[in-house]
Amino acid sequence: MKQADSFQILSGHEKENGVMRKRQLQDKAVFAVEQLKKEYPSAICSLGYEGDPWRLMIMGRLSAQCTDARVNIVSEELFRSFPTAAAMADGDLEQIERIVRPCGLYKMKASQIKEESRMLTEQFGGKMPDTMEQLLLFPGVGRKIANLILGDIFHLPAVVTDTHCIRICGRLGFYPESLKDPGKVEKILSGIIEPGEQSDFCHRLVLFGRDVCQARSPKCENCPLRSVCEHNSKRG
Ligand code: SF4
Repeated sequence: MKQADSFQILSGHEKENGVMRKRQLQDKAVFAVEQLKKEYPSAICSLGYEGDPWRLMIMGRLSAQCTDARVNIVSEELFRSFPTAAAMADGDLEQIERIVRPCGLYKMKASQIKEESRMLTEQFGGKMPDTMEQLLLFPGVGRKIANLILGDIFHLPAVVTDTHCIRICGRLGFYPESLKDPGKVEKILSGIIEPGEQSDFCHRLVLFGRDVCQARSPKCENCPLRSVCEHNSKRG
């Protein structure tokens, strides 16, 4: 057999293996999605944005390196003082800084949420855009917040790669556990998880990550996903 022929056969096998592997991962994803639906029937965003897209954008920005619980508390005073995007756009920067200080990185966060509010009001007429491309124009908005908005507000396919999602899906074996790059994780999961399930699945992962698959001591013995989890099978 010529070398070229044998290469074609090998690459054919590799391709077949790749397709099979993808199918296995998709099956595992269906199982994980259904199990978490049973555990957490209502997939509610842990940020209390009360259905307001602008509030979700602001709270998403404040949540970087801060807990959602703290953002919810801080946001009460913030939205009481600045109830609309227009009000925050015209707001006093020092007052915004003082309010958001408990969320950390407060100077940057304050100036970015004020600017986000100005852009939304002046460039988008107060209407939240529904494309990734437009959402990424806002300062402080990365793919994670943009996907949160696309999934929660517009019910579009969107994988929100927060710390829980990255950790748990790595442990399950959708990709190597060592992979922590949110962009790569988003790309992989987008091809494995059913588009219509992605956003809710990510919300449920947050709840599951707090209750069961915790960063330091996952409760594998009582986990509903243990039969498909690579991390668990490595433990023996
Ligand atoms: S078996 Fe353990 S590591 Fe795997 S998903 Fe469940 S809690 Fe997490």
